[in-house]
Amino acid sequence: MVKEELAADEPSVIISRRPCALLKYVRHDAPLTVKEDQCVGCKSCMRLGCPAISIRNGKAAIDNTLCVGCKVCAQLCKFDALKTGEV
Ligand code: SF4
Ligand code: SF4
Repeated sequence: MVKEELAADEPSVIISRRPCALLKYVRHDAPLTVKEDQCVGCKSCMRLGCPAISIRNGKAAIDNTLCVGCKVCAQLCKFDALKTGEV
């Protein structure tokens, strides 16, 4: 959306519902983990563009130093493979 609005010819405004997750004062939820036995490697979660998600050995992997626990990826996974906390 940011790219789209930057490219617009007319003035535009983006109103965010939440502060940027990269701000230091923003508190994050616990990072998600991948249940490897349930992940089929379909890459649907990768379409989000979240920098915390990658594919490793054919399965999704979450970098817990980057994940802010927003759970958006879990909503996309049809296989219920993304969970909060240790698996
Ligand atoms: S969407 Fe779910 S099953 Fe597909 S790669 Fe991601 S975690 Fe694995
Ligand atoms: S919970 Fe949010 S920040 Fe963490 S991997 Fe999923 S989409 Fe990325």
